[in-house]
Amino acid sequence: MSKSLQAIRGMNDILPEQTPLWRYFESTVARLLDNYGYKQIRMPIVEFTELFKRSIGEVTDIVEKEMYTFEDRNGDSLTLRPEGTAACVRAVLEHGITGGGQVQKLWYIGPMFRHERPQKGRYRQFHQIGLEVFNLDGPDIDAELIIMTWRLWGELGIRDAVKLELNSLGTSESRGRYREALVEYLSAHHDKLDEDSQRRLKTNPLRVLDTKNADTQAVLVDAPKMADYLDDESRAHFEGLKARLDAVGIPYVLNPKLVRGLDYYSKTVFEWVTDKLGAQGTVCAGGRYDGLVEQMGGKPTPGVGFAMGIERLVLMLETLEQIPAEISRQVDVYLCAFGEEAELAGLALAERVRDQLPNLRLQVNAGAGSFKSQFKKADKSGALYALILGDDEMAGQVVGFKPLRGQGEQQSIAWDALAAHLATCVVQG
Ligand code: ATP
Ligand code: MG
Repeated sequence: MSKSLQAIRGMNDILPEQTPLWRYFESTVARLLDNYGYKQIRMPIVEFTELFKRSIGEVTDIVEKEMYTFEDRNGDSLTLRPEGTAACVRAVLEHGITGGGQVQKLWYIGPMFRHERPQKGRYRQFHQIGLEVFNLDGPDIDAELIIMTWRLWGELGIRDAVKLELNSLGTSESRGRYREALVEYLSAHHDKLDEDSQRRLKTNPLRVLDTKNADTQAVLVDAPKMADYLDDESRAHFEGLKARLDAVGIPYVLNPKLVRGLDYYSKTVFEWVTDKLGAQGTVCAGGRYDGLVEQMGGKPTPGVGFAMGIERLVLMLETLEQIPAEISRQVDVYLCAFGEEAELAGLALAERVRDQLPNLRLQVNAGAGSFKSQFKKADKSGALYALILGDDEMAGQVVGFKPLRGQGEQQSIAWDALAAHLATCVVQG
């Protein structure tokens, strides 16, 4: 196929054989969020470029080199959203729904776009489920976010394969003091830093902490520690969070080098990481961003949130073979009809059954075919039962009911009794 007719590198089709697992994952998360009282919000996929520059920060990987930015026909600079927080904050401000201290507990799902080097677990169009809470500033809500994800890992059967890393970046004041101390220390060791870190030292010094360069890491061993610069308020907040995680029994490791890529975090930051996916080990990441709403032109409004990468979590379910058996079967019953008269009767019968059993997954054979070929299709569909309408059944106003998996003889069921019979033998999702 010519290149122009292929999908863009790093932007993937999710094929029919993969969608059942995606839908299982998405519906599991959606149910959990409903149960904890979160409401869904849906934002546009494209926003003004300025929004992301202002919120994410000019000197971040995303804004410096990962955004899909273009000019539209009006000459406006637009960008395909690289993450959801910026648009969510814009939306709540635009609609005034966080005004007067109103608490909002929101979640969203959808594609995000970043021009990164595609590899396993890292794509240019990828999908996130994200969540943002506004106007709650205590550690209790930070804890709730983490507790909820912990429950999710449990329900998905991947809890043993993820680890929680935790840090506090402090208030913007304490972070400012720490930044100064760090810059002073690193400047004294300037020559030993890698080139990227030398650049970051000027633009975004905290990001030097998560360098992958071994020489720079060696310099960092004796660098000032963020924890020593936390003010009383940040310290109490962090202790409050840890106490709540301890109360629920959620293990965590403190990672003083966890700073997160985006500019806007303060106090709590966390990541759920796994060693099951190779290099792309972070499956869910988030933190508190008490200054962001104000920075974007709103009244001071505390905020906290996280985002999880759906591709990485689906990969984990596959890698750990945590795929529930029932999600791959998509047909309960397959109706075969032989001859035109039977076909018409079959269609009408199927609709009557659907009226009575709206959740039944009933597939009617299309494309006619011999007894043998229709049966083959019924079997291939994965259905538990085949319904058969031939000359004999038509004469008796019955339908042949044949179990396709395991034991049981074929029986004849009167048309009127079919729905009731199916209700007893098919567990409906
Ligand atoms: P990473 O360090 O892996 O680049 P990040 O810090 O850039 O991640 P966030 O912006 O915090 O990621 O996004 C939250 C989550 O979204 C990540 O933890 C990850 O699971 C997922 N994610 C981020 N970028 C990608 C990508 N390019 N492809 C697939 N998933 C991604
Ligand atoms: Mg990234």
